[in-house]
This record gives sequence, C-alpha cells and structure tokens, in this order.
Amino acid sequence: MATKSVAAEAQEIKVAIEMIELGARLQVLEEHTTLSREKLIRLYKEVVGASPPKGMFPFSTDWFLVWQQNIHSSLFFSIYTYLLKNSKARGREALIKSYRLYLEQMPVEEGQEPILSFTRAWTLLRFMDSNMLVMIPCTKCSGKFIKNTYELNNGFICGLCHVPSRAGKKAKKD
Ligand SMILES: [Zn+2]
Repeated sequence: MATKSVAAEAQEIKVAIEMIELGARLQVLEEHTTLSREKLIRLYKEVVGASPPKGMFPFSTDWFLVWQQNIHSSLFFSIYTYLLKNSKARGREALIKSYRLYLEQMPVEEGQEPILSFTRAWTLLRFMDSNMLVMIPCTKCSGKFIKNTYELNNGFICGLCHVPSRAGKKAKKD
C-alpha cells in the first residue's frame, strides 16, 4: 500500500514508533502500518538500537491457557472488548489503547517484561478473530476467561476461583 502524502506517512511513522516502544515485532508493524518493510526495519533499529528479531512469532494458542498468562490475557481482552463497545477506537488504535490500559492495570516492575507482550496481545486478537480461542464466563465468579474452543465444557471454573497448587511463584511443599 502506498502512502498518500508526507503528512500521512509522518502519521504512520508516529504510530509505528509508538508500537515499537510498546514492544511490537515486525509482523505487527507490517500489518498495522502502510510503511515498507525496509522502512520499518530502519525505524526499529533507530528506536530499539538493535535489529528486529528474526523469524515468525510463535503461533500457538497454548500459551494463553497457562494459569498466570491466562489471567493476564483475559484481562487484556476484556479491556479490548470494552473499548470496542464504548469508544470509537478500532484496529491498531484499539490495540494500542487497550494494551496501555492493560499495562496500567498490571504495572511492570523496573527491568521486568510484562507477562503479556504487545506482540502476544496482537496474536491473541487474531486467535479470537478466528475463533480458536473464546471468552467464557466462570460458573463461580462469572468473570470471563479465555478458553480453547475445542475444550469447552459445562461448569467451567476459572483460574482465580480454582488456583492450581503449583500456580504460585514457588510451589508449596505440603
Ligand atoms: Zn471464577
């Protein structure tokens, strides 16, 4: 896609930089901006100070089903759904805004990485779009959580109501 004007390209660059700062990988930038791959790589190097990681981002739904990751991902997706319902934000704007809100809810300690990276959040939206993952309500707390479409069953209990014994930072010995 060719950009129409200098102003339009400047806007694309601004959004690309914002996404790079949030941790976006090249694939995400290519999908959500009209800039060429070459330009995106140059921008990435300038912002991060290193080349973008090579290869595709791991494409598996399993990651989102692990206890702590599931809670973070479910929170992010709830925010995203809320934004779509209650604002005009769509596409990349909705992604960026809901990711920022997620970071506000789950602040990251200095030197640490967020549990759900920006690129993972983007991957999650794709899985949701293709119905590989769904949000379903917990029968105990009625909070909504991400589940694998193929593993749906009655009486779902979420990870917060039923904490697996090894979910904590250190497994308890008892
Ligand atoms: Zn629950």
